[in-house]
Amino acid sequence: MELLKQKILSEGTALSESVLKVDNFLNHQIDPELMVEIGKEFKNYFSDKNITKILTLESSGIAPSVMAGLELGVPVVFARKRKSLTLNEDLLTAEVYSYTKQETSNIAVAGKFLKKDDNVLIIDDFLANGEAANALINVVNQAGANISGIGIVIEKAFQKGGTALREENYDVYSLARIESLENGEIKFLSEAVQ
Ligand code: 5GP
Repeated sequence: MELLKQKILSEGTALSESVLKVDNFLNHQIDPELMVEIGKEFKNYFSDKNITKILTLESSGIAPSVMAGLELGVPVVFARKRKSLTLNEDLLTAEVYSYTKQETSNIAVAGKFLKKDDNVLIIDDFLANGEAANALINVVNQAGANISGIGIVIEKAFQKGGTALREENYDVYSLARIESLENGEIKFLSEAVQ
């Protein structure tokens, strides 16, 4: 997605050879116009998949997911990372190791929001080693629902998550795929889609 790549180049920072900071438009401050375009991109790619629900992870997955949900006309559920007093119904839970925070936490989704007949589109802001995506897959599997695809805003293609998920035959669509972050330079793979 050209607009996203330009935004990453102009406002993103390679914090190291493996971490990209994009808090100007995705991870802290959010660019609503860019989110609208992201929603349209996901809709164009997944429109024939009969998606009934989008599942993401709080907090940075929510903005792109809501825009995709608006375009596809489906509700968006975000897995919660923090315990909440109101989250007291039958819970679907999974462990996730956070690459950026370097800690393991639990995510939870109320069972009433994911049902057997759902076709779920999983969306997240970043794909690195696939920990977050696998935790969301685990939650969908517990619900007995179907995974129709995985939409990623920024894939770090030099880390193993994307390859592993595609080898498992998930339909992974990443809007920008980063080849490397070496020497502070952000390089993209030549194609956006696998
Ligand atoms: P994974 O679970 O695939 O290893 O990593 C994806 C998750 O970690 C995303 O939900 C994202 O929040 C965070 N993450 C991984 N790598 C980066 C990165 O380079 N930059 C930012 N901002 N977040 C990242």
